[in-house]
Amino acid sequence: MTTAAPTPPPDLPPPLGPLVPLAYNLRWDWHAPVRALFERLDPALWEATRHNPVRLLAELDPARARAAAADGAGVAAIEAEAAALRRYLSDPETPYARRGGPADLRVAYFCAEFAITECLPIYAGGLGVLAGDHLKSASDLGIPLVGVGLFYREGYFEQEVARDGTQREVYAAADPTRLPLTLARAADGSVLRVSLPFRDYRLHVQVWRADVGRVPLLLLDTDIPENRPEDRRITDRLYGGDEEQRLRQEIVLGVAGVRALTALGYHPTVLHLNEGHAAFAALELARAEAPARGAGPFATAERLAPRVVFTTHTPVPAGHDYFEPDLLERYLGGYVWDMREPWDRFVALGRADGAAPGEPFCMTVLALRLSGFRNGVSRLHGQVTRDMWRHLWPSVEPEDAPVAHITNGVHLPTWVAGDMAAVYTRHIGEVWPLELDEVRWQRAAHIPFEELWRARAAQRARLTAEVRRRLAAQLARRGEDAGWASQALDERLLTVVYARRFATYKRAGLLLARAERLEALLRGGKLQFVFAGKAHPRDEAGKEMLRRVHAFAQRPEFRTRFVYLEGYDVELARRLVAGADVWLNVPMRPREASGTSGMKAAANGALNLSVPDGWWAEAIADHNRLGEPVGWSIEAHPGPDGDVDLADADALFALLEAEVIPLFYDRAGAADGAAAPVAHPAPPPPAGAADAPPVRWLGRVRASIRQLVPVFNTHRMVFEYLDRAYLPAHASWSAAQPSSSVAEA
Ligand SMILES: *Cc1c(COP(=O)(O)O)cnc(C)c1O
Repeated sequence: MTTAAPTPPPDLPPPLGPLVPLAYNLRWDWHAPVRALFERLDPALWEATRHNPVRLLAELDPARARAAAADGAGVAAIEAEAAALRRYLSDPETPYARRGGPADLRVAYFCAEFAITECLPIYAGGLGVLAGDHLKSASDLGIPLVGVGLFYREGYFEQEVARDGTQREVYAAADPTRLPLTLARAADGSVLRVSLPFRDYRLHVQVWRADVGRVPLLLLDTDIPENRPEDRRITDRLYGGDEEQRLRQEIVLGVAGVRALTALGYHPTVLHLNEGHAAFAALELARAEAPARGAGPFATAERLAPRVVFTTHTPVPAGHDYFEPDLLERYLGGYVWDMREPWDRFVALGRADGAAPGEPFCMTVLALRLSGFRNGVSRLHGQVTRDMWRHLWPSVEPEDAPVAHITNGVHLPTWVAGDMAAVYTRHIGEVWPLELDEVRWQRAAHIPFEELWRARAAQRARLTAEVRRRLAAQLARRGEDAGWASQALDERLLTVVYARRFATYKRAGLLLARAERLEALLRGGKLQFVFAGKAHPRDEAGKEMLRRVHAFAQRPEFRTRFVYLEGYDVELARRLVAGADVWLNVPMRPREASGTSGMKAAANGALNLSVPDGWWAEAIADHNRLGEPVGWSIEAHPGPDGDVDLADADALFALLEAEVIPLFYDRAGAADGAAAPVAHPAPPPPAGAADAPPVRWLGRVRASIRQLVPVFNTHRMVFEYLDRAYLPAHASWSAAQPSSSVAEA
């Protein structure tokens, strides 16, 4: 699959030319030396472009460019990194190759959102982060995979929060020619177009390509002159429209996605549908392969199911996409007609009970039917998923419903900040970003406390500075006095962070259920909170929750120790997970399918304080061994009134007061392990004893790193997909190949 090489901006001095291929390969996102090269060219512009190296190079002041080109050492560093990227891309000795992975495996990974880097805002939350981290690990490990998604020109919204806590959603159209994307071209050099039957005409799509290390990511775009004005807006915003817009987007993702792969000469042997949005891809693959198999498309789809992998992420029925058959017929009637298949059989594929006339068409049901390997994203979520969909397999025992689980992970080189990365390099070894086996990571038990504490303190201090900077900007934008922002947070205090989407089940407002206990805790002066997160544009309850958290953060007596930051995105997430001491998560169990932000925080040396849901349920069950617990689990026992929120809030405060705070301030040298006193109003903890490392706290941090990091990462996760899903799926493809092509291979 090739695309034309990007052209350098006309004014770029030739010695800076090697920056162009570096800018267009998103590996810089997780390779700090290249980020540093861009930042050095113009730190302010690097910030202003939201870390977009293509815009940076296009807008770089000529005098600065000339100076950089004249700096011999700088140019040598650029050339060295360009050579390192070429080596990374062409290295035949990948972990995948060393395992003897088949050379003809080709996985196409479909998802409605991808979080790769902050200048490409085509994600809303955890699903996108997981997909982005999946591609990055596939790249590092050398697994042959291509991503397929949509290019949302206006992305997901940028969040501004007004003084009264009202969220405003700001959409700005991106110029794709100023992003690290290239336009896919046909073999004759013309811009590639794929088209598909849509309503009673044809819809046309062009394809942007992002290079995520070795992994191409194809992003489909309907905003081209061949389309009707309303259809040009199909790919304008992520999750921005109504049900009908969602259907249009999902048709483009699935049907045009497979057509784009074919047009670019990439013939997947395995399809991975990450969430039900892309389920039409399985049907389209069957339609395309049916003639060669001499069977109808639906019969072919059944036979191709062993090549389809489906991952579901949603533990509640309302979270799945359902479409009314009439709406579906308006858009896909012609498509199904062209297949010469009866419409009723098509609708039945998306119904739990195929014959029920009133039942809407469910994308998850379609995906479950057309896949051979299906999984939830944590052990608990696997169970929940089997319970939820067991009626699809009436002849098997409920617990045998064919849904496995592969627990999510995070891509560590993306999420581990510099100070902790340096600690790992010294004590785990240079290869830590690649070799995540549990034996190697036992070495974390020997990281010296002093050194671990210095790295933690440095990352907390950086977060403190960043919070002040952002808070000042946020207040200034609203025309408020920003003077107090410089007093926000104290870099020596226990820092508790809560950051994720403000979906109601995640209960960002849980602490406020016992406001009097929260106030007392803050008056005690021993800890501080940072909150961040966006509510979905149409989630009024989520917005109300945001208003309440924000209102508390506005109270003059608490505002420097309880901060809400607007504009949560992957960049802010990176800073928050780096600086947190405690990562707080309080979902309504079992609604957090996995959760991943706590894994990022653990890898940075934070301790998790969480309801045992999603990944944390198994982290606690498998790794919280006696003597070296890895964090805290909020286990509540609701009273006779049955109020789960109040019970959870009480359990949370009890843990903070009785365990978390005393442990953090239990400093070596403090008399017989008692907490060092920190009085209110806020004299800083006394120097000396308080600066000494909290040995028992850090013991937990080491246990958390040693036990959690080698498990809850995407290298482990992607290899698990490879061994349990991709390789069996690929074997099914191989077995169906005519023997002549097997002989060729
Ligand atoms: C990691 C991450 C998430 C997922 O957070 P959860 O706590 O797992 O919901 C969401 N948004 C961003 C920007 C992230 O980086």
